[in-house]
Amino acid sequence: MKINNFAAGPSKIPKKILDEITYDINDYNNLGYSILELSHRSDLFQDMVDQVKSKIFSILNVPNNYEILLLQGGATFQNTFIPANKLSLKNNISFLISGTWSSKTFHDFEKYFNHDIPFQNFDYKNFDSLLHKVHHNNDDYLYLTSNETIEGVQFRDFEIFEQKKLIIDMSSDICSYEFNWDNISYIFAGAQKNLGIPGVTVCIFKKDFFEKNNLTSYLDSTNHLSKNSTFNTPPTFSVYVMLKVLNWINESGGIKKIEEINKIKAKKLYDYLDDNLSVFSLNAPEGFRSFSNIVFNFNDESKTSTFLDLCIKNGFIGLNGHRSVGGIRVSNYNSIELPMIEDFISFLDKFVRSKQ
Ligand code: PMP
Repeated sequence: MKINNFAAGPSKIPKKILDEITYDINDYNNLGYSILELSHRSDLFQDMVDQVKSKIFSILNVPNNYEILLLQGGATFQNTFIPANKLSLKNNISFLISGTWSSKTFHDFEKYFNHDIPFQNFDYKNFDSLLHKVHHNNDDYLYLTSNETIEGVQFRDFEIFEQKKLIIDMSSDICSYEFNWDNISYIFAGAQKNLGIPGVTVCIFKKDFFEKNNLTSYLDSTNHLSKNSTFNTPPTFSVYVMLKVLNWINESGGIKKIEEINKIKAKKLYDYLDDNLSVFSLNAPEGFRSFSNIVFNFNDESKTSTFLDLCIKNGFIGLNGHRSVGGIRVSNYNSIELPMIEDFISFLDKFVRSKQ
């Protein structure tokens, strides 16, 4: 049976990459040893880090006054790493809370600073007034999550926040569309959706972002910067997989092409759901619907578990919505091919017509 993996992360890896990895696990680059044995102090690994950085610079069109770090601890570690390395944020940041992940980071920042931080809850019905409030406070920085993986709410246009310096969690939509860096100070993303497997987090930030602070060694950004992301033993295999994925993005036509295909795939599914609103309800409001995670449910919720069980029996896996939201979540990351979405829509439609 063909398996169609729509999981929210860790998520599908393109077959070509899996084949290359399989080879390299036995014999990396025909060197006679496994990629799993590669020393982080070897020239080969140092070169790998440099290649990852230079490919991210070119794929995302990152201006040259930015720097890149590859860190461990997942996206969640950033909730501590960022405030620890920039104490002035304590009185100089507000949050746009659009879902679970921005809320978690908000609470971690408040805890770290032991201080109330201003925030606005995402409100699509009054979005203009929300933008007004966001812009008319005294804080220089605004934190947001570009794609809320659980709720399926996404911001792709950061220019609407033009008066703020942005710190963005891009864990579930990095490298899936082009964006402008004009008002971006810091972005970070765990790798396990569009950049490979868990273990490494990409941080891209203005060179003057961090402040001096007397921190313990792993927490201190200056250690990671001075050692080019190999301060301690880094997640070598995750970095290796990331390089494979970045090469695959380039071979697939680059980010413009990837964005175009992501839009086509997402639109197909949203159009189908919109055409059948007597059967389905969508989680995210129009204008903020995610291309990365399409979250919906049956109006008759008693159908959800029957459908999800049938999905698994037919090879459509990873589709259950997060337990906090329920329903169905179709993760439409870069690695998801158009026929996978088309097959899923046909399967869904067959279920609807079968009147189960
Ligand atoms: N932010 C977002 C948007 C996420 O989707 C996730 C995890 N899925 C996280 C943060 C937390 O990532 P991690 O598990 O790597 O800490």
